[in-house]
Amino acid sequence: PYTGPSADEILSKRKQYLSPSLFHFYNKPLNIVDGRMQYLFDESGRRYLDAFGGIATVCCGHCHPDVVEAIVNQTKRLQHSTVLYLNHAIADFAETLASKLPGNLNVVFFTNSGTEANELAMMIARLYTGCHDIISLRNAYHGNAAGTMGATAQSNWKFNVIQSGVHHALNPDPYRGVFGSDGEKYAKDVQDLIQFGTSGNVAGFISEAIQGVGGIIELAPGYLPPVYKIIKEAGGLCIADEVQSGFARTGSHFWGFETQGVVPDIVTMAKGIGNGIPLGAVVTTPEIAEVLTRRSYFNTFGGNPVCTAAGLAVLNVIEREKLQDNAFVVGSYLKERLTALKDKYDLIGDVRGRGLMLGVELVTDRNLKTPAKLETLHVMDQMKDIGVLVGKGGYYGNVFRITPPLCFTKGDADFLVDAMDHTMSKM
Ligand code: PMP
Repeated sequence: PYTGPSADEILSKRKQYLSPSLFHFYNKPLNIVDGRMQYLFDESGRRYLDAFGGIATVCCGHCHPDVVEAIVNQTKRLQHSTVLYLNHAIADFAETLASKLPGNLNVVFFTNSGTEANELAMMIARLYTGCHDIISLRNAYHGNAAGTMGATAQSNWKFNVIQSGVHHALNPDPYRGVFGSDGEKYAKDVQDLIQFGTSGNVAGFISEAIQGVGGIIELAPGYLPPVYKIIKEAGGLCIADEVQSGFARTGSHFWGFETQGVVPDIVTMAKGIGNGIPLGAVVTTPEIAEVLTRRSYFNTFGGNPVCTAAGLAVLNVIEREKLQDNAFVVGSYLKERLTALKDKYDLIGDVRGRGLMLGVELVTDRNLKTPAKLETLHVMDQMKDIGVLVGKGGYYGNVFRITPPLCFTKGDADFLVDAMDHTMSKM
């Protein structure tokens, strides 16, 4: 049993000693002390179904025994910087990771976070092309350092950074976007930005395949192929941010970009890749990677043996437990059930996403699409009391983000939808 400080004590310490910008979910925040696969446990031992942790930390389940074993064994043996000597863990993981990517995307740079991975990817694109301009999408989230905060395009995540050389294209958002689901029309805006906002040449384009923080927005079908072509013609590189949509989450594909049938020049990843251990990566081609030989490039802990041992264990678990198939089967089932709920409650304006990366957008008026912010908070709180944790996102904070560990079952999906149904029926 848990014998540590109470939730209230932790909260008061947090207020006194931690960043005032930290936020937490729920009126009465949870004190989570244990995790096991798709479940989290609070200090009283109460179990919660975790339908959000899959992105933030765990792709194959909290404390998955194989990943824990790999971490513990490597920690007992050696934990050090990656750069100075040889060690097999980093080389083995890089080899396996490269085998998961198409074409000649087989050179891996390791980092400690998604932000660092995207910063590096954008720097590589700028070095390789000799251009500075980068195009990203409105509503994107790519990180919180100077460059990535510039590429991020939601004002609530941006401080007053100097947004050097970044242009934000119209978001190909099928629900709220001006061109609906017409991917090609949105692509034309990228062409316009290049023609009328730059010298005609750009360093690159960066996007998620399904925007996570932005509220589970799957880019309109047919968008990326013409955009990648336009960027190539302008001399730029295409960067796929797979921090959330990668690692089998979409079910239909291992990588989010594959759902649009494109092959990027650079792929970035983080979060679920380490199943809770800080690990990020940039993967590109040997030709592009060559630009980093112009100077010394060094990341002390990026790809250290413990993190890469975890990463390799994660890839093995995904494969052995057929988690991509599971994401497809359970995700499709869950989406069907959520869509049925939409027929029952006008409050649900949209159900979207793919595999185990699903979004439910709440609106108070279906025609005006007025964000139902308070209702979202209420439903989220009530579901927590029933024992189900979902995430929240979107610019207006009115979208449930359902991104569980990939071991989620149909029974879990039923419990989640029943909890949402029950809560909405009482409103
Ligand atoms: N890219 C995407 C798509 C993300 O969702 C995030 C984090 N929310 C990041 C990059 C940044 O990752 P990190 O927080 O590990 O720096």
